Amino acid sequence: MLHDPHALHPAGGGDDARGASDSARPRRADLHALRARATALNARYRHHGATDVLRGALRDPEAGRIAMVSSFGAESVALLHLVAMVDRTTPVLFIDTRLLFAETLVYQAEMAERLGLRDVRILRTDEDTLKKRDPYGALRFSDPDGCCALRKTVPLENALNGFDGWITGRKRYQSGTRASLDFFEIEEATGRIKVNPMAHWAPEDIRVYMDENRLPRHPLVAQGYPSIGCAPCTSKVVPGEDARAGRWRGQDKDECGIHFVDGQVARPQERKGERA
Ligand code: SF4
Repeated sequence: MLHDPHALHPAGGGDDARGASDSARPRRADLHALRARATALNARYRHHGATDVLRGALRDPEAGRIAMVSSFGAESVALLHLVAMVDRTTPVLFIDTRLLFAETLVYQAEMAERLGLRDVRILRTDEDTLKKRDPYGALRFSDPDGCCALRKTVPLENALNGFDGWITGRKRYQSGTRASLDFFEIEEATGRIKVNPMAHWAPEDIRVYMDENRLPRHPLVAQGYPSIGCAPCTSKVVPGEDARAGRWRGQDKDECGIHFVDGQVARPQERKGERA
């Protein structure tokens, strides 16, 4: 059963009309129009649920080529399921930093199979670049933002070059900087649209959705990891701690810093403290 906790309109339509525009990425000069488009989309979907937002994003020819970006982490399966229900051929980008838990890699393969996702693309930094930039796998100690840029942001940026927008699993409750997160945003550096269909979901919504659709949890959740990233940068949390307390524990860092400025990868300090 599909349970979309905030849907006010029933699901409809069964055709696959995902946008497949070959249009070039919008130029910065078009930002005003892009912002207006995001504002109009947010107004249109204000009272809709995640499924309608996804349908709008994946089936509107004007939206262009849209990919989903997923970590196959603790809560990812809910959005993966929603996307699979709308269109199983949606490209799903999974960043394998080569430092993930083995359980994540197994879970990724199992969920892709179970949900029938037909276009999962595994992104990795190439071996030669890793040998040059992080030969001992120790960059995470001296420069964790640089490590995230090397292993996550650059491969993602390269992969996203073929798309006009991307779907994320970000939610308002996850941090203060996301408190006003909208369904549709314009990534001003690239002109891409970011679609956040679960922006308004609460932790309870995700739990209920996963229960009602019998979606398997990432196996590490039961072992005390409510938020899961790379193995060296993820620790267990104890009852009462924030779900993300185990990410980069003891460091002044709580995001991967996946964002772009002027079309280039930007690290958090280059944005004067602002985080994606
Ligand atoms: S989470 Fe840690 S190991 Fe993974 S890319 Fe970022 S700094 Fe490196």
